[in-house]
Amino acid sequence: MNTKKYLLVAIYTSLSITAFSQSEVTEKEIKAHISFLASPEMAGRFPGTAENKKVVAYLIKEFKKSGIRPYGKSYTQDFTAKIRVKKGTTDTPRVLTQNVIGFIEGSDPLLKQEFIVLGAHYDHLGMGGPSSKKPDTTGVHLGADDNASGTAALLEIGEKLATNRKQLKRSVLLIAFGAEEQGLLGSKYFVEHPVIPLQSIKLMLNMDMVGRMNAEKQLYMGGAASFNGGVELMKQLGPEAGINPIVIAYDVGGSDHVSFYKKDISVLGFHTGGHPQYHTPEDQASLINVAGEKLVCDYVYKAILSVANRKEAIVFVPEKKN
Ligand SMILES: [Zn+2]
Repeated sequence: MNTKKYLLVAIYTSLSITAFSQSEVTEKEIKAHISFLASPEMAGRFPGTAENKKVVAYLIKEFKKSGIRPYGKSYTQDFTAKIRVKKGTTDTPRVLTQNVIGFIEGSDPLLKQEFIVLGAHYDHLGMGGPSSKKPDTTGVHLGADDNASGTAALLEIGEKLATNRKQLKRSVLLIAFGAEEQGLLGSKYFVEHPVIPLQSIKLMLNMDMVGRMNAEKQLYMGGAASFNGGVELMKQLGPEAGINPIVIAYDVGGSDHVSFYKKDISVLGFHTGGHPQYHTPEDQASLINVAGEKLVCDYVYKAILSVANRKEAIVFVPEKKN
């Protein structure tokens, strides 16, 4: 190869790497999503507010940008959310809010009828309210970790899955849930009004608070034994993704995946652990471990790719209770 030719190849290669990297999960994009979602302007993303609607518009715009289609006509699924109030309050406010749903069709003519659901809630506590750890302070609860982090991961993993859709045999549904903080309301509504048959959902992966990975690079997950081969797979993927997975067989609690588990659907609920800023106005973007969150995204992406292409059927394994 002569120098000129070599130079051309080198330029071409670097150009194609640049083009490719845009569909990759990047720290820059994770940071940008979190900065927007957890900005004071989004006012804590409380269901029914104008800011909450702005977030919904942002999610739709990002889905479109990534080439992620709606399932059916609309990206949104409307529902009425009953807002949590202080004990002893008689008033029961109800607001209209949405789940935002994106669809990535699988490439196998038969297996594409089976779905992997990836979810994260996008709402938070607004100015606080009864679920706040500092209910008497009036400050915007920014919710950078809870759950701008999971929402950003949903957008980034979704983008990468859509780019590599030909590598997916099964289909993927991406769901940004509304009103989780009011009692898992978005996911409860979805499983009662599913846009696809519930039996076609083979695994639901949920990310809630994945932005605060510690120095040991631990990622916690509950539910790994709720599908065949789950524990082995999730352990095996740790080293190649550069993380230390804490794989818990069941202990399925806390977030939107619970709504699916209650319908006998296999689940994985991911989080990077609690912290003093949980449900306070101090849960801010500057405290997010962006590099750690990228590792979470890479790991979850690998898990989805593996499950979506598995030859062996994915079967729900209920917890044996003595
Ligand atoms: Zn929360």
